[in-house]
Amino acid sequence: MTETLTIALSKGRIFKETLPLLAHAGIVPKDDPETSRKLILDTNRDDVKLVIIRATDVPTYVAYGAADLGVAGKDVLMEHGGEGLYEPLDLHIARCRLMVAGRPGPEPRGRLRIATKFVNIARRYYAEQGKQVEVIKLYGSMELAPLVGLADRIVDLVDTGNTLRANGLEPLEHIADISSRLVVNRASLKIKHARVKAFIDAVAEAVAQRRGMND
Ligand code: AMP
Repeated sequence: MTETLTIALSKGRIFKETLPLLAHAGIVPKDDPETSRKLILDTNRDDVKLVIIRATDVPTYVAYGAADLGVAGKDVLMEHGGEGLYEPLDLHIARCRLMVAGRPGPEPRGRLRIATKFVNIARRYYAEQGKQVEVIKLYGSMELAPLVGLADRIVDLVDTGNTLRANGLEPLEHIADISSRLVVNRASLKIKHARVKAFIDAVAEAVAQRRGMND
């Protein structure tokens, strides 16, 4: 019997945009995670299962081998650190930018306070600049922090910039371009090499075709 290949995905945008890539690799889920409460989804293939988890948990499941493969935003991977993960492919989906944002105008003097859910990324970014900052961990609605005096700056994902504008903030510094990546457990890559390699190749082909159509 063939061993199961387990793929970790998060609901929402990543799931929707990964579906056509999976289909190209011959994998079609039997349930829709938006309507089903199942956390393990069967697919048309008996030997392939999907696990539906929080985006920030994808690197953990894959690093520990609870999933062989996963799809995670580069932001999530940068924040996690990526230890134990092989990152073979940029899927070019869910693209945005990781930015420092704040009120327009000069940088306040003294030690900056930075509100973000990306505390590791923010610490690393300011350490590289030799700046002493205080990083305040938030779990959402970062844009509020500068408006109520909780922080001078935020580090957040920006797509259209509408959320920042609607709150009187502007993008100030670019930290990284973000898109979703395919990640693979290093042991799975060795033990299930042929299947994992075939999957990566099929998804890579789908990504290339999709990008060709959009050019
Ligand atoms: P926007 O108003 O289009 O700049 O979008 C900004 C809001 O959407 C912020 O709250 C972001 O955290 C979120 N966002 C934008 N792009 C992404 C993405 N690719 N993945 C996850 N969240 C995103």
